[in-house]
Amino acid sequence: MATRIPESPKVGMVSLGCPKNLVDSERILTKLRSEGYRMSPDYAGADVVLVNTCGFLDSAKEESLEAIGEAIAENGRVIVTGCMGKEAEVIRQRFPQVLAVTGAHQYEQVVDAVHEAAPPIPSPFVDLVPEAGLKLTPRHYSYLKISEGCNHRCAFCIIPALRGDLVSRRPDAILREAEKLVEAGTRELLVISQDTSAYGVDIRKQPRMWKGREVVPHMTDLARELGQLGAWVRLHYVYPYPHVDQVIPLMAEGLVLPYLDIPFQHAAPSVLKRMRRPANEAKVLERLRHWRSICPDIAIRSTFVVGFPGETEADFEYLLEWLDEAQLDRVGAFRFEPVEGAAANALPDPVPEAVKEERYARIMERTAAISATKLAAKVGRKLDVILDAVDDEGGATGRSMADAPEIDGEVFLRDVHGRAVGDIVRVTIEDADEHDLYGTPA
Ligand code: SF4
Repeated sequence: MATRIPESPKVGMVSLGCPKNLVDSERILTKLRSEGYRMSPDYAGADVVLVNTCGFLDSAKEESLEAIGEAIAENGRVIVTGCMGKEAEVIRQRFPQVLAVTGAHQYEQVVDAVHEAAPPIPSPFVDLVPEAGLKLTPRHYSYLKISEGCNHRCAFCIIPALRGDLVSRRPDAILREAEKLVEAGTRELLVISQDTSAYGVDIRKQPRMWKGREVVPHMTDLARELGQLGAWVRLHYVYPYPHVDQVIPLMAEGLVLPYLDIPFQHAAPSVLKRMRRPANEAKVLERLRHWRSICPDIAIRSTFVVGFPGETEADFEYLLEWLDEAQLDRVGAFRFEPVEGAAANALPDPVPEAVKEERYARIMERTAAISATKLAAKVGRKLDVILDAVDDEGGATGRSMADAPEIDGEVFLRDVHGRAVGDIVRVTIEDADEHDLYGTPA
């Protein structure tokens, strides 16, 4: 019997204004077409109509409002985008029935609104792109980007200049992507952004519906929802702001992995000040103690820069002592390098290369010793390990909840039979070294 391929929804488009708007319309339609949507040349045949507005002059605004009115009268299911998105209130007052209003260049939001109004019908027979998108990571783990850009201005970094201030994605769009990834085989979601703890500051007053619940764009709310998708959820690039305390109970409950990747970069107050870092190290140590009292297994990963301009031997010693106290589980270090365009390049007192090298070696040695002690304490324990590679002789390599892929340690296993990549296996830890663990299935 022949398989009947379901027909995808049709989208109508009214594009007003300048050629820049026209290009935006083309980009939106290209994206929708690539997802299988069909185009409708008239109102009658469309499941939803997009009106890409112009708001350059009063006369253009009036023309846009007229076009919205016409689309509502002729079709009724209308999404407004473009320059008039800035005046969403005006549009909603005059046309309360519009399904969504988004601003210029907000491609993802427009596409999300179309998904909501006329859900795409995935078809493995015709789709060139799998529903979860194309991935460069193995099937069992996926990076999930929740925002772009950054509101900080760290002296050594040019990301804000390259990518602008923080722009958060809608929580429902993130959750939909995460759900698709999990359905496609992802067992571990790695939440990334430039500053995960700042997620939602720009769209705080725009909660979205997800599975019948309202989700506020906030790291804690997002983490709680992600934790219910049935995959490991790992949070990267989190700053130790007070509100981060709220995710620690989610870790203790098992909704989110007991792991935080916090790029401290330094500990000496004068260096942090010159780096223009957002953190107060005295409170950070207190905060770490508090987190460990709630979730004793929490693994803290961090990175540090040595040889930042003006870093004295005393500053560096301070950092080493701070590390002794902080007892971080995983540490990466970098020797400071001037990046073209970074404010730090103009700072006085550059640290000579030989001194940078020497400090780098010392910090690596000190943190390796801390890591070795912490890993030795795991010998004899039973840990869940996600498998990254399995060979034919019963050997396997995986990671515990304390290990992110590529950057942290690994767990080397023997006597693993009948298991596949992506499986989560309970393991007895038998041995440890500076960075890795060794064990067998429990
Ligand atoms: S280092 Fe991180 S927090 Fe600082 S400006 Fe760059 S992206 Fe933002």
